[in-house]
Amino acid sequence: MSLSDDFAFTQGSLGDYADCARRFELRFIKRLRYPALEVQDALQFETRTRQGARFHKMVQQHLLGVPAEALAESLADDEELARWWANYRARGLTDLPAQRLSEITLQTHLAGRRLVAKYDLLALAPGGAAVIVDWKTGARVPSQSSLRGRMQTIVYRYVLAQAGAHLYADERIPPERIRMDYVYVASDGERLSFAYSAAQMRQDEALLAEMIAAIDQADQFALTNELRRCRFCSYRSLCDRGGAGRLEDFDIDEYEDEEEETFALDFDQIAEIEF
Ligand code: SF4
Repeated sequence: MSLSDDFAFTQGSLGDYADCARRFELRFIKRLRYPALEVQDALQFETRTRQGARFHKMVQQHLLGVPAEALAESLADDEELARWWANYRARGLTDLPAQRLSEITLQTHLAGRRLVAKYDLLALAPGGAAVIVDWKTGARVPSQSSLRGRMQTIVYRYVLAQAGAHLYADERIPPERIRMDYVYVASDGERLSFAYSAAQMRQDEALLAEMIAAIDQADQFALTNELRRCRFCSYRSLCDRGGAGRLEDFDIDEYEDEEEETFALDFDQIAEIEF
């Protein structure tokens, strides 16, 4: 059994492979949806993921022109979400170019496969800066070095550099003009920014091509040896890897990104294909 010919790689699927090859196989080749809960505190987890989805929807509506005050009126029942919204309003859009495209999907081709990125926001100044913004609602802000190595940082910047020409006067966006910002609305709107460069792009391309080729050529997908990666994996019972972890140790942002990609990516809506 192997990947379907039209499979599109994303930061989430590549992140799964980087974490555990077996998880990638179960999720994307065997297409097993296992019902095990990712965390112990199921109700709290459900509330938290609902808040995250609601926040992202509100930002999308705001960027499409719905007044922020009108959106805020619905927040009387949720103090935490109201706090995130206030942080977003205070600092979420600071120093961004004026042209703003929310919930946009781009794709390129690499190593014979599609590579897709779904962006919360692209802020563009034609001929100037191109800023990728990703809203995070997790309580913990990761270190700069761990975010720099995250598959999302690698894939999002690379795909924009390869496939963003139609957004930028029909020329490829120079990597040096691309920046990626993570904005942590639950942590006072703290922003971590990552510049890009041609050298970094070449390095990322080599890494991504190598990963995709390795997946395409693999006939075995090993279980990870790092048991901590199993704590929040839905295949724990299948792999006999113990009970669920606690919500406070869970990376809710990574989970939300992956769920959004898995269920909401509509490939008919992909804006552009560039080789
Ligand atoms: S439970 Fe562990 S070994 Fe099994 S798929 Fe998940 S991460 Fe991999």
